[in-house]
Amino acid sequence: MRIVRYQTKNEAPRYGWILENKVGPIEGDIYGEYRRLEAETPLTEVKLLAPAQPSKIICIGRNYAEHAREHDVELPKLPLIFLKPPSSIINPGDPIILPPQSQQIEHEAELVVIIGKRGRNIIAEEAQNYVYGYTAGNDVTARDLQKLDGQWTRAKGFDTFCPFGPWIDTEFDPSDAVITCKVSGQPRQMASTRDMVFSVNVLIAFISSVMTLEAGDIIFTGTPAGVGPLKPGDSVEVEIEGLGKLVNPVAAQK
Ligand code: MG
Repeated sequence: MRIVRYQTKNEAPRYGWILENKVGPIEGDIYGEYRRLEAETPLTEVKLLAPAQPSKIICIGRNYAEHAREHDVELPKLPLIFLKPPSSIINPGDPIILPPQSQQIEHEAELVVIIGKRGRNIIAEEAQNYVYGYTAGNDVTARDLQKLDGQWTRAKGFDTFCPFGPWIDTEFDPSDAVITCKVSGQPRQMASTRDMVFSVNVLIAFISSVMTLEAGDIIFTGTPAGVGPLKPGDSVEVEIEGLGKLVNPVAAQK
């Protein structure tokens, strides 16, 4: 099933589900008890929103060998984790705003995991019981500030630096899917999720040994090689085979 958050004219945001290019509302808690109502509104008539409202956004650094190589850094022996603030989230189609503090803002196409229930010290073998589904994401990064600061909070945490969507696919298989990123139509990144250094299950085990995961929390699983700069007027497409495509325009801060 594909789950969306969406808005129609003059109505509050709500969760819904997709059937054959139409959206139907969901009543109740998508992570608990809920009821699906008939899907009768064409997708083209709704504004799709970021499909989860996480209490935290956990990201993985250097989880593809080729990407570590392009930055001339060693692969971590354990998953390298950092956080983005929820204030950095934007919806599919909303602009990524380039802040004036950075001269080198880059895209990072990533598979994103949505957690479905609270868990702590989850073992890898049981990790899939805690996965609600998957979506596409762009871990937008101010590369110059990342190198300058050492700590990554500023480089990764600007408003608009966390686009994800367009929906949550609850049946997606993350073991071998192609991730691509195009910027204004030009291919930049292409790799398979099978090239991840640490699998989704291992990442969930590792993260939950540190912090309690809550329903709705999201995990950015790392980006493959090919990251590159964004400029005003660009359009960034992150596509995951069999899952969907996230598109965001790029604009300078006024
Ligand atoms: Mg990243």
